[in-house]
Amino acid sequence: MSHSKPVHAPQTHFGVVDNCLQVGGIPLHRLAQRVGGTPFFAYDRGLLTGRVAHLRASLPQAIQLHFSVKANPMPALVQHMAGLVDGFDVASASEMRVALDTPMPPASVSFAGPGKTDAELTQAIAAGVVLSLESPNEAVRAARIGDMLGLRPRVLLRINPDFEMKSSGMKMGGGARQFGVDAEEAPALLRKVGALGLDFHGLQIFSGSQSLSVSTIVDAQSSTFELARRLADDAPAPVVLLNIGGGFGIPYFPGEAALDLRPIADNLDAWLPRMRDALPQANVAIELGRYLVGEAGVYVTRVTDRKVSRGQVFLVTDGGMNHQLAASGNLGQVIRKNYPVAIGTRMEAPAGETESVNIVGPLCTPLDILADRMPLPQADVGDLVVVFQSGAYGPSASPSGFLSRPAAAEVLV
Ligand SMILES: *Cc1c(COP(=O)(O)O)cnc(C)c1O
Repeated sequence: MSHSKPVHAPQTHFGVVDNCLQVGGIPLHRLAQRVGGTPFFAYDRGLLTGRVAHLRASLPQAIQLHFSVKANPMPALVQHMAGLVDGFDVASASEMRVALDTPMPPASVSFAGPGKTDAELTQAIAAGVVLSLESPNEAVRAARIGDMLGLRPRVLLRINPDFEMKSSGMKMGGGARQFGVDAEEAPALLRKVGALGLDFHGLQIFSGSQSLSVSTIVDAQSSTFELARRLADDAPAPVVLLNIGGGFGIPYFPGEAALDLRPIADNLDAWLPRMRDALPQANVAIELGRYLVGEAGVYVTRVTDRKVSRGQVFLVTDGGMNHQLAASGNLGQVIRKNYPVAIGTRMEAPAGETESVNIVGPLCTPLDILADRMPLPQADVGDLVVVFQSGAYGPSASPSGFLSRPAAAEVLV
């Protein structure tokens, strides 16, 4: 029996013309000239639009889509998303400012995140965005600041659920967490939110991130609906927004495949009528970051040197982990695996002209790796290396100050 090595899902979102990758219909070498240099991130607006349309067509119509801005806070991209989704979730005052610069109404922006300062609470309340309360202390401070401003803060209660999202890339609920209030403590805090006179909007229950398992997502959504139904009895006002989290993953590594939305949609279809009975005024929203934007972006860096060390080929590029930390394997990976990578200026190799290469960034650390012994077309100085699946958690999640090199440009094409 032969075992074949798992390979990356084919990267078919972007076109190839004359051996060169295209982003938004522009050949990569031309785009590099337009940007004025490398490295850069390019996001394809057609792919962003298409991804939202695909979700809308796949999920029940009643499901609202929220974009989690932390996945990609580039202002032009957030502006583009404002015309496509029903709400934004932000996690800092800076993200809130980017969201408020778009046509998205403040009431459709929610602000989550532990440890909000009085200054951040003040900005959010003044703006009229919905505060996702993470603790009793935040509830009390929000009420006090609301009194000072003469405004009634709009609030959601963020719940740390009493279940875990099993096989997700990142668990963010269940067990002891810094996020939200434990489900067991929620009834008391819900009553307190009423007593404090806060304008209660509903619940946010987020259990995890980056899951490619349909059953994990379906189970988490069902547990979330059950929990919301239980908690509604103690709510000080009707739930008008039930944010059930998201967690939809995208395939990054060999052997992974895209999520099948159909069983998820079927489960939502089954739950929506039950939730209409239990919480008649509730709009049900899912919040997604990487699923909306991750596959629409590439990181592009240029080969500046080609060398051989003890029989292995190294392509050295002008950018790496300082811009695309996740692709280097240093953002939460236990065992380093390659992101999908291509030579954007040599997409197809003539027969016999592929080689096994290491692609490394320019930083003085062995952690700065973009590809570890990957079979790729033979490339040389001047060629452009492309890291796919780079539309989410790129520059804003990378240590751009490390080694004091220039930041990467970002363009929406
Ligand atoms: C980070 C985060 C998200 C987005 O996660 P993705 O994996 O990018 O979809 C959504 N909701 C909350 C509360 C988050 O913290």
